[in-house]
Parts: sequence; C-alpha cells; structure tokens
Amino acid sequence: MRIITAPAAMQGLAAHWQREGTRVGLVPTMGCLHAGHLSLVTRARSLVGQRGIVVVSIYVNPTQFAPTEDFARYPRTRARDARLCRTAGVDAIFAPRDRQMYPKYGTGAFSTFVVEDSLARGMEGAARPTHFRGVTTVVAKLFNLVRPAIAVFGAKDFQQAAVVRRMARDLNFPIRIVVAPICREPDGLALSSRNRYLSPAERAQAVALIQAIRQARQTVRRAARPVLANRLKSELTWLIETRPAARVDYLEFFDPRTLRPVTTVRRGAHLALAAYVGRTRLIDNGRL
Ligand code: AMP
Repeated sequence: MRIITAPAAMQGLAAHWQREGTRVGLVPTMGCLHAGHLSLVTRARSLVGQRGIVVVSIYVNPTQFAPTEDFARYPRTRARDARLCRTAGVDAIFAPRDRQMYPKYGTGAFSTFVVEDSLARGMEGAARPTHFRGVTTVVAKLFNLVRPAIAVFGAKDFQQAAVVRRMARDLNFPIRIVVAPICREPDGLALSSRNRYLSPAERAQAVALIQAIRQARQTVRRAARPVLANRLKSELTWLIETRPAARVDYLEFFDPRTLRPVTTVRRGAHLALAAYVGRTRLIDNGRL
C-alpha cells in the first residue's frame, strides 16, 4: 500500500493509472477510520474489481469547519488508519497536509471555491453556513488529484452525498457517485469519528437520534393519513430532549430526491436530524 502526501505526486500517479486504463475508486474521509469507512472501501473494491485501484483520502479539511467548530481537536489517528487500510486491501492512501492543499490559506493566495447553490442551503447548510462550500471545494480538488472513475460516499451524510452528486453532474466530472448505507452500532447509533468525544453517560443518551428516527417511522407507518411535519417535529424533539445532555439542533422531513422539506409526512419521506449530546454534535437520517 502506498501513502502519498504531495498533491503533485498524487496527480502524477493518477495520470499514470489513467494511461494504463486502470479503474480508480476513491473513498474520501477525514480519517479516524471505523467500520463505516471500511464498508465504503469494500464497496469501492467491488466496483473497481481486483485489477482496479482503491484510494482512500484522509484529510481533515479546514475549509469545511467554522472557526467555532472542532477542527483543532478532530481526532487524527494516522498510524492506526494506515493499518486498517492495509488490512482492508486499500491500494493507496492520499493524506495531504494543509499547506499543500491550501497554500498560504488565509493570506488570499487561495481564493477559488466551489459552491452548490440549491441542495446545500437547508439542514446542515443552514446550521453550518460555510460547511458545504468547504466540502464541495475539497471534493472537487480530490477529484482533480485522484481522477477516480467512481467515488463512494456514505448515506450517513445524506445531504453531503446529494450535494456532491449534483456538483459532479453540474461541473461534468466524469465520475460515478455511489452512496453506501449507514453502518451502526448494535444499539443503532450511527458510527462516527465524533462518537469518541462522548462520555459513557453521553454515549448512552446518543441512542436518542436513532430512536427518534424509529419513532417517526412507526408513527408514519401506523397513521391512516399523512402526519403533520410540525407535530411530529415537536414530538421527536421532546423525545430526544428528555435526555438531559441532548439538545436538538434541527430536525427536517424532506423528499429524498429533491431535499425539499415536506409539511406532511408519509412513508418514503426522509428524516434528517442533528443534535448535541453534551458538546458533541451528531447527525443521523433515515427513510420513513
Ligand atoms: P468522514 O470521515 O466523517 O468525513 O466520513 C467519510 C465518509 O464516510 C463520508 O462519505 C461519510 O458519509 C462516510 N461515513 C461516515 N460514517 C459512516 C457510517 N456510519 N456508515 C457509512 N458511511 C459512513
């Protein structure tokens, strides 16, 4: 397994693979890898085949964090990540440094951003106004550096996958965007690198997110007619906030194809939510 840090070296290797006609699958991550990330690696491998190349990028992208967020303390576990990737059969890790990805960032020397201007507006985009601009910018850079035929994202970040797919279509990246299902703990908590911030008491309360999704699913499936979104939002907020450490940031019902909010909720609608458990912000989503 190769570990590449220089963007120019990555781009050179990608050009070589392209000349050879090798299919490349990319799994973009911020590292601190867990079974959710590894499921994306497995999916990428099945899509590019044994003769193809699977690249995992590991980069905690500063431009998708607001100044108040956890960029500095985001867990970085490079040696462990490399071991996990090697065991999972990854061919190459691309782990660039900030000064290589954003030379002289903050001095005005880096000044081009990619903005998706529709799907990125609600939910995570409303709660974290500069987040998706950072995501689409870094993903566009990764696409140009790695030149994959396929890129695999997780449904854990449902809106992110939709935004990236739209960007790839709108900007003519010749890349198939694949979205893999959410991997969960046995009690239903979605795996996330941020789960390691949780104290044992908070970890027990974090199950409230999946419980809210299950409760919404049950309500919608049992109801004789569509359920009012606002009513369901208050019920679920109450359910989550009965846990002393939990506070809802947003909760949204929407059409999974357009991401447009719905005012009445029926089977097939999608629920996405963000909640703080202590100081840790968690997100989850599911089809109802
Ligand atoms: P991150 O390292 O959190 O930026 O995530 C990198 C990729 O892994 C994204 O496409 C995520 O959606 C995906 N991912 C993170 N957690 C999970 C999970 N529990 N199940 C499936 N995919 C995940």
